[in-house]
Amino acid sequence: MNELALNLDTYPAYIYDLPGLADHVKSIRTALGTTELFYAAKANPDAEILRTLAPHVDGIEVSSGGELAHVRGTLPGKRLAFGGPGKTPEEKRLALTVDRIHVESPHELKSLAALGPADILLRANLPLDTPNAALAMSGPFGMDEDALNECVRLLAGNTHLTLRGIHAHLASGLDARTMLDLAHQIADWALPWLKTHGVHDPELNVGGGMAVDYTSPEALFDWHTYGTGLASIPARLRIEPGRAISAYHGWYVTDVLDVKTTRGETYVILRGGTHHLRTPVTKGHNQPFKALTATGPESPATLVGQLCTPKDVFARNVPVPPLAPGDIIAFTMAGAYAWNISHHDFLMHPKPTFHYLR
Ligand SMILES: *Cc1c(COP(=O)(O)O)cnc(C)c1O
Repeated sequence: MNELALNLDTYPAYIYDLPGLADHVKSIRTALGTTELFYAAKANPDAEILRTLAPHVDGIEVSSGGELAHVRGTLPGKRLAFGGPGKTPEEKRLALTVDRIHVESPHELKSLAALGPADILLRANLPLDTPNAALAMSGPFGMDEDALNECVRLLAGNTHLTLRGIHAHLASGLDARTMLDLAHQIADWALPWLKTHGVHDPELNVGGGMAVDYTSPEALFDWHTYGTGLASIPARLRIEPGRAISAYHGWYVTDVLDVKTTRGETYVILRGGTHHLRTPVTKGHNQPFKALTATGPESPATLVGQLCTPKDVFARNVPVPPLAPGDIIAFTMAGAYAWNISHHDFLMHPKPTFHYLR
C-alpha cells in the first residue's frame, strides 16, 4: 500500500487492497461454518470490491432499486436479498426477481401480493436488549408483533407468497458475544412463532452490525466465537454484514496543503476533506491514519480538509510527527461507509482517484 500511496500522480486517492480483502472474507466464511454470508452492498458497492467478495459470499443484500441494478450488472446470477423501508412500486416489481424479499410492513406485503409470487422474510422489530449498540434500528424498521400477525393473515389469502422466515437487523456496533446473545433471543422468539404459522425449514437472517472499532484497528470482530455460537440455532441461518467486511481494506490518501497554528491550536490542512471521507463526522470519531513521509517527535494537531465548515475534521487533537506541505497522510479503515456516504459535490473540489492493489 505505502509504495503505491507515495507514488500517485494526484491526491486525494482511495486505495483498495483486493487480495487483503479476499483473505479477510475467506477467514470470515470459514469461521461461519454453515451460516450463510451475504454482503450488505450499502457499506461499499464499488464494483471491484463486489467482484473480489463474490466467490466468498453466498449472496449480496441490496437496499434499493439502484443497488439491485448495480449488483445485478456487476455480479450476474449472484443470489440477492432485497430489504429496506419505503420500497417504491417500481422497486417492488424489481424485488420479485430476487431470492428473498425482506418485507417491512403489511402495506408492502399487500402490494407485493398484487404483483406476483415471491419468497419472503418478514422483518421483525423486536423489543430486545441491545446493550452498547452504536445504532439501535428501532423506529420505522421492520414490524412489531401486531403487524407481523397481520402479515400472517394476509399471507393466508395469498398463497403465491411464500413465507420462508424472519429477518431481524436490530442494532450495529456490537461485539461477538452480545451479537450472539441477540441472535439467540431472536431465534427464541422467531422459531416457535414460525412453527405456529406452519413454516417448515425456517430461515433466520439475523442481520449485520458486527462491531468495527476505529480506535483499535487490530481488534477484529470475533467471527470464530460468533460462528461457533450460531451453530446451535436450529434454523437456516444467514447474516448480512457490511462494515466489518469492507472497512479494513480501504485507505484515503492525501497530501498536506498547509499547516498553521491559531490561538495555540495546530491545524494540518489536507487536500480533499470529509466530502470524500465522511466516516469520522458521521461516527463522531478520529479517523485512524498514518503519516507516510514524516517522522520525529509527535505533538497534537487537528487534521482538517478544504471545506468551509468547522465540521470538516478527520481527527481532532491527535499526535502527529512534524508535518509540512507535501507530506502524505493515509487514513486507514476507509473501505466502508466512506466515499459512498460522502457529500461529494459540496464546494466542487476535484474527486479522488481510485486505485486497486491486485
Ligand atoms: C446497514 C444494514 C446492514 C449492514 O450493516 P453493517 O453495520 O454494515 O454490518 C445489514 N442489514 C440491514 C438491514 C442494514 O440496514
